[in-house]
Parts: sequence; structure tokens; C-alpha cells
Amino acid sequence: MAVWVCAQCGYQKEARCKPRKCPECGGAALTKREPPAAAEVAAAASDGRKKRAATSSAGRARAKA
Ligand SMILES: [Zn+2]
Repeated sequence: MAVWVCAQCGYQKEARCKPRKCPECGGAALTKREPPAAAEVAAAASDGRKKRAATSSAGRARAKA
């Protein structure tokens, strides 16, 4: 279960799938709020992925030039 937070009014809704729009203000900018521990792991994982991608694309650019 994830908690979805409206970026416009701060309304929080617990749901498995992303709500199409906020029931409070009708805004579509809902972001998933993970439990703190899981969010930290996800952030670390995506950081690593970003770094690896940047390194590999830089390497490819250098190889081409
Ligand atoms: Zn809202």
C-alpha cells in the first residue's frame, strides 16, 4: 500500500494504484510517499543508476570522438 500526496493541497490518500486526480482539489499532481526506510533505499538505488548511466554515456562519447 502506498500513500499518495497531492502536490497542490497536500491531501493524502492510501491506495495501491495512483489516483487519477485528487478528490479534494481535482489536481493530477499526486506523488507517491514511501515509508522512510524504503524511500532511502530507493533514492540510493536511483542515485547509483544515474551515476552509472552518466559514466557509461560519457565513456561512449569519448570512444566516439
Ligand atoms: Zn489536492
